[in-house]
Amino acid sequence: MTDTPATVRPDRRAELASGLARIRARIADACAAAGRDRSEVTLVAVTKTYPAGDVVALAGLGVTDVGENRDQEAAPKAAEVAAAGVTPRWHFIGQLQRNKCRSVVRYADVVQSVDSVRLAAALDAAAAAGRDRPLDVLVQVSIDGDAARGGALPDAADPDRGLGPVAEAVAGSGALRLGGLMAVAPLGWEPERAFARLAEVAQRFRVRHPEATALSAGMSGDLETAIEYGATHVRVGSALLGMRPTLR
Ligand SMILES: *Cc1c(COP(=O)(O)O)cnc(C)c1O
Repeated sequence: MTDTPATVRPDRRAELASGLARIRARIADACAAAGRDRSEVTLVAVTKTYPAGDVVALAGLGVTDVGENRDQEAAPKAAEVAAAGVTPRWHFIGQLQRNKCRSVVRYADVVQSVDSVRLAAALDAAAAAGRDRPLDVLVQVSIDGDAARGGALPDAADPDRGLGPVAEAVAGSGALRLGGLMAVAPLGWEPERAFARLAEVAQRFRVRHPEATALSAGMSGDLETAIEYGATHVRVGSALLGMRPTLR
C-alpha cells in the first residue's frame, strides 16, 4: 500500500482506453454475430501483474468488474483501489488454497474457481465469519476431465471433485450463492471444441440449478468463440492491459 492514491500517467490511461475500445468492439461484434444482446456479456478485466493505478484508470473508463488470480497480489491491490475511492466488483479467478479463504472473502465479490467440496466448505465457513452478505460463487469445471488440473469433473461420481457434489455443496451452503460455471479452454484444444463441450455441461447443470445462469468463459484469444457458445462473462487480460512480463 502507498499513501498517495493509485494513479496512472496520461499515456498509460490512453493505452488502456484504446485497449478497452478494441475489446468492447470485439465483444459487440461477437454478440452481433451470435445474435445475442450486448448486455448479456460482462467484461472482467484481468489485472493480475498490473498495478492498482491501472484498476482505478479502467474503472474511470467504465470497467465494472476486475479479475485477479493470486491472493497475495489481490488483497493489497484491492485495499489500494478502495483507498482511491473506487469499488469495482472483484472476481477471484485463480486456484484457491483453503488457507487463503479468510483473506479472499474480505475483498472478493465473486469467487469463480471453486472446484471441490472441501474448498466450498472452507469458503462457506470463511464467508460466514468474514462478511455480512453472501459471496457469489461460480464452480470451475474441467472441460477435458483431467483431474490433475483445476476444475470440477462433470462426468465423475467423485464425492469431492465431481461437478454435481460441488454444485450441491455451494447451493446448500449458508454464506455462498451459486451463480453458475467457469472454465478455461484446455491447452491444445480448439476453442470451438472446448466451448461446445462446456455449453453441453452448462445446459445439463442448469436443469438442476436454473438460477445459476452465469457462464464465465473466454479470454484474450478466444472470447469470440466463448460468446458464440453462451459465455456471460469474458475474462480478458493481455489483450486489454498488455502482455504480462511473466507467465502465470
Ligand atoms: C490470466 C487469466 C485470464 C486472462 O488471460 P488473457 O489471455 O491474458 O486474457 C483469464 N482467466 C484466468 C483464469 C486467468 O488466470
